[in-house]
Amino acid sequence: MTNLRLSAVEKALARFTKSVEVPSKKISDYFGENSFGLDKLKAAVTVDVYKKVIDSIETGAKLDDVTAEAVAAALKDWAVAKGVTHYTHWFQPLTGSSAEKHDSFFDSLKGVERFKGSTLVQQEPDASSFPNGGIRQTNAARGYTGWDPSSPFFIVEETLCIPTIFVSYTGDTLDYKAPLLKAQEAINKAATKVAQLFDPSVQNVSSSLGIEQEYFLVDKAFFAARPDLYLTGRTLFGAAPAKGQQLDDHYFGSIAPRVYSFMRDFEVEALKLGIPVQTRHNEVAPGQFEVAPLFEEINKAVDHNLLMMDVMQKVADKHDLKVLLHEKPFAGLNGSGKHNNWSLITDNGRNLFDPEGSLYFLTFLVNTIKAMHVYADMVRGSIASVSNDHRLGANEAPPAIMSVFLGQTLTDFLDKVEETGELVYSTEDAYMELGIERIPGLKLDNTDRNRTSPFAFTGNKFELRAVGSTQNSATPMAVLNTVVAEQLTQFAESVSAKIEAGTDKEEAIREVLVAYIKESKAIRFEGDGYSQEWVEEAEGRGLSNEKDTARALKFLVSDQAKEVFAKHGVFNTREIEARYNVWMEIYATKLSIEATTMVDIALTRVLPAASTYVGKLVETAASAKSLGIDAEGMVTTIKEVSGLIDKVKVTSSAMIADLERIEELEEEAHAIAMCDEIKHKHFDTLRAAVDSLEKLVDDALWPLPKYSEMLFLK
Ligand code: ADP
Ligand code: MG
Repeated sequence: MTNLRLSAVEKALARFTKSVEVPSKKISDYFGENSFGLDKLKAAVTVDVYKKVIDSIETGAKLDDVTAEAVAAALKDWAVAKGVTHYTHWFQPLTGSSAEKHDSFFDSLKGVERFKGSTLVQQEPDASSFPNGGIRQTNAARGYTGWDPSSPFFIVEETLCIPTIFVSYTGDTLDYKAPLLKAQEAINKAATKVAQLFDPSVQNVSSSLGIEQEYFLVDKAFFAARPDLYLTGRTLFGAAPAKGQQLDDHYFGSIAPRVYSFMRDFEVEALKLGIPVQTRHNEVAPGQFEVAPLFEEINKAVDHNLLMMDVMQKVADKHDLKVLLHEKPFAGLNGSGKHNNWSLITDNGRNLFDPEGSLYFLTFLVNTIKAMHVYADMVRGSIASVSNDHRLGANEAPPAIMSVFLGQTLTDFLDKVEETGELVYSTEDAYMELGIERIPGLKLDNTDRNRTSPFAFTGNKFELRAVGSTQNSATPMAVLNTVVAEQLTQFAESVSAKIEAGTDKEEAIREVLVAYIKESKAIRFEGDGYSQEWVEEAEGRGLSNEKDTARALKFLVSDQAKEVFAKHGVFNTREIEARYNVWMEIYATKLSIEATTMVDIALTRVLPAASTYVGKLVETAASAKSLGIDAEGMVTTIKEVSGLIDKVKVTSSAMIADLERIEELEEEAHAIAMCDEIKHKHFDTLRAAVDSLEKLVDDALWPLPKYSEMLFLK
């Protein structure tokens, strides 16, 4: 039988760098050419139609039929002129990937391309097989997709994609986008009210998001030779290579030609789609990279990130590469995250986290810290997934303990407020004391930033770094916006109560902030988030440290969470409970796939190779002995390999028995049992035995591409 690994090595070595066609040296020549946003709509329809669309985006008002027809017609004309033949409602069901079902524009009865306004606005996909967590009965499995006018249309190959939300016939949301839009409304309302304390002209506040996306690249041939990679997204086995990331020589290093060519290629596609990709570089681990678009309005940024992940995969294929988006494709190397850079921006262009204008800024800063303190568990729950568990709490950036990093300047300032109980300064002093009137002062914090913090203030934005690289950012961003909205609402109430009781407005604001600074101190942490000391200290501070998704998801259905979600209209209780069920089931299912894949690889690939090797050694040792040659070394190896073969066999059998034993458990109990009695009990044991075999068995027989090959050959 051919050894898939060895032929993969040959293929990888024979690759060459593919050239990339760049449409123009000037990005502005093609930026957004496959995207149809408000600017294009404005140019294509009457002033009246355009105004109605804007009105619908701002107020959520339903579009009348005439307006919808006009938009649909303009859209169809644009798309057909670009060679598009089909359209699809593009939505984000709870499966985790985006979904689409293509229909043709061609009306065979009339013999022309047609696109009706009603089809633009709403569709009823056959939705019965999307997860709903019990919201829909199978016999009433209707689901509707509804156009989200705030996100641009885009073209993928010959299909026009229409971003939509996905709801059940009961009106409950069944997707990721709808709750984010609702959370946007919540933060808009709450933040506008607070901003008006400082600037009555503010009418709207929206949140912005810039997503840094980390990923690994491996040669396609290696991917195809590793069932664990193509079935689970990560290597379930693999001995540590002699060279990993010890030298840190990959980070920001020069980019290998094949990788560079891939990056250019996918960036061109992304730019054509109107995704403002801006930064690219090597990451810490060998084979790891990052791409970051410029920040955008949050809903658009989330859609663009999902679309970009899709584009990356497609373009990589042309370069004979595979993108690994998993949070931890390789044990022992850095994992991948999706840093969510988040800020709040007013309609008159002010970033509320921009340190200029002390009290205004401090109000939003301190409220965000306080929200993280009170609702840290909800944020933790929002980033829980089977794959992110390999980062959070696994000696990896960042820990499962939620905390806020502010940098030295702000920390010193808040400590002083806490110590003196006063937030008093003259205007000039404030700038001096905060050290934040000059950008260079802030730059210091930036360079000395803490990579181990899950939620860091980085100059004029907060960066939620704990989001997993595969995850849809919509949930963590919906949760963050909801809890900050709730916090700001409480703040506004406390301040108005004080004002009504006769306190001067500015004084009232100061008093509430001082109280918040004191109350939320426990969530602030400037030290090393990976250290054991922090785990102990955090426990002393009463902060949660829930490492497993099977338990962390519970934070999203606590009484506290249900109340806040319902109050701000982000999830009703049915909706959040449904998500809990879906996510617990996905967790258990993914672990079950991992367990089965491990056993399958161990028994059908690793054991045959190890046995063949033992057989050869036995033969050789016997011949040596018959010639009177001492064969102790071989005998020792035979014993070692045989012992490990036993270990693999015994552990596999035990894991299968446990899988069968817990199969009948109810959903929640099953997910917890998968965590405790499968993953924690068996995975490491089985892996250790297989990885030890990798270090002993003849290299020419080993069936799985090795870490060194996957990481360094490209
Ligand atoms: P880093 O040094 O962490 O890579 P960058 O300054 O490159 O940080 O920014 C990372 C991301 O943050 C980018 O997507 C960038 O557009 C985004 N970003 C910058 N300013 C803001 C902001 N005010 N709000 C949201 N995102 C922002
Ligand atoms: Mg960053």
